[in-house]
Amino acid sequence: MLLAGQALPALAGETAAERQVVIFTPALDDERLAPTREALAFWNSTLAQLRLSPRLVEAAVVVESPLTRSLENHAQRLWRQAGRISAGETGPRAPRELHDEEGDIFILLSRQHLMSFAWPVDDTERYFVAIGTRSEDRVKQAVPTHNVIAHELGHALGLTHNNQPAALMCSPCRSALIKEYPHRFLPLTALDYARLQELYAGP
Ligand SMILES: [Zn+2]
Repeated sequence: MLLAGQALPALAGETAAERQVVIFTPALDDERLAPTREALAFWNSTLAQLRLSPRLVEAAVVVESPLTRSLENHAQRLWRQAGRISAGETGPRAPRELHDEEGDIFILLSRQHLMSFAWPVDDTERYFVAIGTRSEDRVKQAVPTHNVIAHELGHALGLTHNNQPAALMCSPCRSALIKEYPHRFLPLTALDYARLQELYAGP
């Protein structure tokens, strides 16, 4: 089922490069849907403050579409191979239907007990983000969902991990420090800001 998304208002006087975000969810009352929207809003306000153009636009929320099953399988294959695919290697191919789907970032609120991750859609600039169910998301169990999703969206925007234990792009993260952020977003580092500028500042 395809539901109309909530488009963000156009930014006056600015040609925002929009990244269309499609969210696949098991149900409209899934508890990860609200934190997903908070994470999108976090990135939009961060990018706006930096005067950088990309905006993450919620294009659609898809509930139980035929594509969902393929995406669940894809997520499982990627998750099984996690750590065994090194940068530059292709890994499992994305389902063919995903290439036909409109959108730039596809977020699967998975029914599976996998650890959340972000992975490019094959050799395109599009991203596939899988968010596992909370119960078995052991490593990130201590990290509130809005921070997990914002972290994965950070990858989709081009950021990599850093070794600061309580930064948004931390890996490993120190859970004791992250518990201080139940309602807030973890901070970005100076390197993250520099990377965003490098990626998105105009000439
Ligand atoms: Zn990560």
